Amino acid sequence: MKAGLYISEKKVMVGQIEVPDLQPGEALIKVAFAGICGTDMMIYAGKHPRAKAPLAMGHEFSGRIERLQGESDWAVGDRVVIEPTLSCGQCEACLAGASHVCKTLKLIGIDKHGGFAEYVAVPFDRLHRIPEGLSDAHAALAEPVAIAVHTVRRSNLKVGDHVVVLGAGPIGLLTGMIAKQAGAGQVLISDISSYRLAKAEQLGLTALNAKEVNVTEEILKRTNGNGAEVVFEVAGNQITAKQMIETVKTQGQIVVVSVFKQAPAIDLAAMHYREISLTTTRCCSKSDFAKAIKLMHSGAIDVAPLISHELPLEQIEEGFHLMENPDVSIKVLFHP
Ligand SMILES: [Zn+2]
Ligand SMILES: [Zn+2]
Repeated sequence: MKAGLYISEKKVMVGQIEVPDLQPGEALIKVAFAGICGTDMMIYAGKHPRAKAPLAMGHEFSGRIERLQGESDWAVGDRVVIEPTLSCGQCEACLAGASHVCKTLKLIGIDKHGGFAEYVAVPFDRLHRIPEGLSDAHAALAEPVAIAVHTVRRSNLKVGDHVVVLGAGPIGLLTGMIAKQAGAGQVLISDISSYRLAKAEQLGLTALNAKEVNVTEEILKRTNGNGAEVVFEVAGNQITAKQMIETVKTQGQIVVVSVFKQAPAIDLAAMHYREISLTTTRCCSKSDFAKAIKLMHSGAIDVAPLISHELPLEQIEEGFHLMENPDVSIKVLFHP
């Protein structure tokens, strides 16, 4: 079958791999849409510690059940979106019901072939039904929406709070949208891409261009000099690692969503004097995933403005080039 493969650093191509054999308890999914995520960009850059070439990347995908192996409530033809995490079920986190932070967490599309292919084998318990009225293309964004749901649910956000989001990539934008849903007063979002900031404004967020204004000063000015109750760090660089402390209110909360490629310097003393708390967040739980689907289905979260490109899988190289330029893309979807 056709697959969009990671070959080596900055090299992707369409190639052929075997249609996966099904194990008992698995469904063969014919992929409808698969999105490029920041993690795929990390693999593409040759910086992912676990991804081994050649790999069909893609962990954000929707499709239809083509075949089933074993008993289940699923039927051939069902429309599904895939929760890509694979956990061991045995470690302390798994036994405590937090399988998304499993000690040996693996992902479809990183540790095994994923959605940049015609077919993927997926365990039954990783399937979520796509409700009628939600398109396959929109459903393919369930995973990033679920990350944002998980992120906001891990915060102390209360109705009316000022919220800052540092970074207006797909996860930053979605976190801002979910924070609004959760009752945030004003949501200030910063980035250096005017294209992405224009999207942010379109989505009802207040955009701050870090190329034009001093982000810290601007946020303090707009929060009566106090800073925000909750700051989401979604850019993953030293500048935002500094800004997150400068822009959070005394006794406020920082939520680090980014995976920092380089360990940043964090001014713990500055946090100490103002009793600032910091929490991290990883992936999402099964219930976050279900909530994300409901929010998209009800129309509370409309992901349409985030989909900048829909390309055939043959254009995998172009897709990755587009994603390298934040001034022309947000979410690129492939349809194999
Ligand atoms: Zn993702
Ligand atoms: Zn585990």
